[in-house]
Amino acid sequence: MALRKLVAGNWKMNGTRAALPELPEIEAAALNAQGRLDVAICPPFTLMSEAAAAAPLLAIGAQDCHHLESGAYTGGVSAAMIADLRARYVIVGHSERRTYQGETDADVRAKAEAAQAAGLIAILCVGETEEQRDAGRADLVVAGQLAGSVPPSGKAANLVIAYEPVWAIGTGRTPSVADVAAIHELIRAKLIELLGPEGTGVRILYGGSVKPENAGELMAVPDVDGALVGGASLTAAQFVPIIQATAAL
Ligand code: PEP
Repeated sequence: MALRKLVAGNWKMNGTRAALPELPEIEAAALNAQGRLDVAICPPFTLMSEAAAAAPLLAIGAQDCHHLESGAYTGGVSAAMIADLRARYVIVGHSERRTYQGETDADVRAKAEAAQAAGLIAILCVGETEEQRDAGRADLVVAGQLAGSVPPSGKAANLVIAYEPVWAIGTGRTPSVADVAAIHELIRAKLIELLGPEGTGVRILYGGSVKPENAGELMAVPDVDGALVGGASLTAAQFVPIIQATAAL
């Protein structure tokens, strides 16, 4: 079943207000492609309000959320606070947070549940390291992350999975089309096992060094329902061609 694709940009810890002029052009490309795909930008928390004002018709997301709604958690930002900004998405379990903040599958699941409770769509990231792939354990690792972090209440309407092999993030390297196809097929089967028929409608994004040059090829792979894009989402010059290549499929 072909699902409506989502192309989401993750700005990570990049961007000050000087980056906001990139957004209207991205918004225009998203509007041109409307009906064929969804587009979102996930800027740092500091830019979310101004990003929404600079491109009011572009969907905005956050890059993380706290699993609780409010309280004495200095520096924390809850899913309810993100929803209050009229954001639609929140990334949870990005490998950089799993690595640098030590987030576990249980933490990621709690965040995804908080996102759903706040009415947001969680973009839940999974993916193996190079060492795990070389040891032939990529499938096991990804299936284990899904089992541990996908909320049982996950629905097509409030959950998106992003498969991001850690070794492909920011490196310019990508898996072969055959490898992407194989692991996305496995993720689809696991989602159906975990969520029942609802699992057929959960979008599965590919992420890791998606660029204008490889977007068309990667987005055409079966069960690739869009892209999570890091570096190439920082400028309209790079991100717009990715949107256009995806919309052209
Ligand atoms: C990411 O950060 O989610 C990502 C995929 O980064 P990049 O596109 O830069 O590899």
